Amino acid sequence: MNATTQGLVCAHHHLYSSLARGMPPPPRTPTNFTEILELVWWRLDAALDLESIRWSAMLGALEALENGTTAIVDHHASPNAIEGSLDVIADACAEVGVRSVCCYEVTDRNGLDGARAGLAENERFLRAGGRGLVGAHACFTLSDETLEAVCGLAADLGVGVHIHVAEDRADAEAGARLADRSRPEWLLAHCVHLESDLPGTIAHNPRSNMNNAVGYAHPAARENPIVLGSDGIGASMLDEFRVAFVRLRESDVTATPETVWEWLHAGTALVPEVANDVVTWSYDPMDPWYLAYTPGVRAERVEIDGQVVLDGGRPTRVDGDEIRARAREEAERLWQRM
Ligand SMILES: [Zn+2]
Repeated sequence: MNATTQGLVCAHHHLYSSLARGMPPPPRTPTNFTEILELVWWRLDAALDLESIRWSAMLGALEALENGTTAIVDHHASPNAIEGSLDVIADACAEVGVRSVCCYEVTDRNGLDGARAGLAENERFLRAGGRGLVGAHACFTLSDETLEAVCGLAADLGVGVHIHVAEDRADAEAGARLADRSRPEWLLAHCVHLESDLPGTIAHNPRSNMNNAVGYAHPAARENPIVLGSDGIGASMLDEFRVAFVRLRESDVTATPETVWEWLHAGTALVPEVANDVVTWSYDPMDPWYLAYTPGVRAERVEIDGQVVLDGGRPTRVDGDEIRARAREEAERLWQRM
């Protein structure tokens, strides 16, 4: 008899990065966080069109489902295909059967028109009934005027802001810039170099932070609710749980996996319906002390909203092999445009 749990939540994802794996190397090797953005991610997101956004979201949603993640809180950027991009992502997730909470990352890095278009996409999507937050990239790419516009739009629409906060030293001023702006309903990704406290839920992304060598966020020392995100590196939240645990242990050998298990389940507050989703796993027991040291645990069956969307480890609504094949073709097209 295999164990069941509720659905898991990936509280900070970038579905658009699903097609990045294996892409050609950048023109030179990035040596710090800002260069990683400039040489890798801002070249990739500029090359996205609605078709590549669709297949990266389909692939990301499929991988989430296969790992028992029934809700994705996404943070999207595609500066040359902004309008309609959030519908494409929400529709792709719905087609696979996964819940999504979308936003478009507003930024000034593509000029005033780019910032306005990003704000407009958040507003268009949310006013049309889409589920989401207002997205913002990070304080270091936002003017005060644009940041005010983001806060104003979120307040008008009664939702929080989903923003990267002090991920790297380059964004160390975020704490001061957001001090009078952040609200409890905001979702603050990373907070590695945040020295003050801000209201909001902190999305901890340990694997991504190690991959970018930005430092450790020390989430256990915060008073905020802590949730776990992948920052675009898949959506296996049990995997992220294990990485989060071992990284916590590295800083405090007395720490227990129960702390990280709480972070994983705190994601439920962002998408409460996942409490009714039922995931049957390839393993028993689903206990943090076992799972912290057991790699390779998979979802075998997933029921979302009473519908079986994964059975025998395979999606029931879509053809997983076809999604992987189409995603591979789209990745080639995307890399050529870069
Ligand atoms: Zn991120």
